[in-house]
Amino acid sequence: MRTVLLGPPGAGKGTHAVDLSREFGIPHISTGDIFREEMKAETELGKLARSYIDGGNLVPDDVTIDIVRGRLKKDDAADGFILDGFPRTIPQAEKLDALLAETGLAIDAAIYLFAPEDVIIQRLSGRRVCKKCAAVFHVVNIPPEKPGVCDRCGGELYRREDDAPEAIRQRMRQYESKTAGLIDYYDAVGRLVRVDAGIAREDTYRLLKRVLADLR
Ligand code: AMP
Repeated sequence: MRTVLLGPPGAGKGTHAVDLSREFGIPHISTGDIFREEMKAETELGKLARSYIDGGNLVPDDVTIDIVRGRLKKDDAADGFILDGFPRTIPQAEKLDALLAETGLAIDAAIYLFAPEDVIIQRLSGRRVCKKCAAVFHVVNIPPEKPGVCDRCGGELYRREDDAPEAIRQRMRQYESKTAGLIDYYDAVGRLVRVDAGIAREDTYRLLKRVLADLR
């Protein structure tokens, strides 16, 4: 079950990927999470990534592809994975296809989570993330029991730098100009599955579970 989750920032890719990963026992691979870990640890890669991410820009393809290549080689990804936030450009998608083809594999489905722009902006601007365990909350939609504190681990919640209004606008521009073309890319090879992400979270999740169950 080799899947990628597509869709604009704020569509809920990360939130649903965490749950699907647990439910189906396949790893959730998020390039955004990997970059944030590196940023937290202040590695060279983290510093480089931050110079793009905080302003809402994409990290260069070669850097991102190297990370995914390494991650897909790990044992836990042998029987499948959920890629979240990768690919984000056509060259990344082509490289991913080439990497998988080396071992006779391919992407089984590219799941496109679509939602209206006003819903997306409302989600991104109220999003809060745990500093410790990266769990995602929302001040209105998914409020933590105690404001500013993670329900899962007690860690401190913060607003991502790239969820600031100007960075959100830039991410939407980047999505339109560089990422949206992937919808046609996967549609052309009959791998695209569209899932409504503008409805209630549990309803979207139910649809997603059905898609993955069918693949299995
Ligand atoms: P995300 O958590 O998926 O929203 O990613 C956060 C940020 O990390 C993005 O806005 C990009 O700056 C960067 N990023 C994540 N994945 C990629 C990718 N596949 N290509 C380039 N930049 C990425």
